[in-house]
Amino acid sequence: MDTLTSPTPAPRPGPQTADAPAPIDISASRGPACTLCQRPALVHWLRRPTNEDVEAVRLLEIDRRAAQEQLDNPDAPTPVYPPLPTGADTTVIVHACGPHAIDMEAAAHIHASTCTAPNEADLPGCDCTPEKLPTEPPEETAPLPAHWTSGGQ
Ligand SMILES: [Zn+2]
Ligand SMILES: [Zn+2]
Repeated sequence: MDTLTSPTPAPRPGPQTADAPAPIDISASRGPACTLCQRPALVHWLRRPTNEDVEAVRLLEIDRRAAQEQLDNPDAPTPVYPPLPTGADTTVIVHACGPHAIDMEAAAHIHASTCTAPNEADLPGCDCTPEKLPTEPPEETAPLPAHWTSGGQ
């Protein structure tokens, strides 16, 4: 007798609310588009945010914290949040298609907030001086315990 059960888990029973789930945005599922020509992006790099970008990120974070406080137990102590993000610790992703990609070396760096790349006048370069990459300290790995190495006991 075949008693195979379906590998798919049963749908989770949950309270059905009148709120329908947000419809899936089909345009977003196509992936990012080139900043310049809106064709599907192939590459991306990072730049520092403009003041407007930082403001948008800060507003999002303020909203997120407000929403969290609504969920939190009102008797719990007020959470202490880290400072709001600033332009120095935030980056914005710039997408580009193949023809509008800056060169790979430049794309490895973080560009200035004023960088206009991808801009056909400057390709395959850009009009800013990208930040130098941070030099990473050599990685020091602690030795694994003997019983985690092959042949160990
Ligand atoms: Zn393009
Ligand atoms: Zn640049």
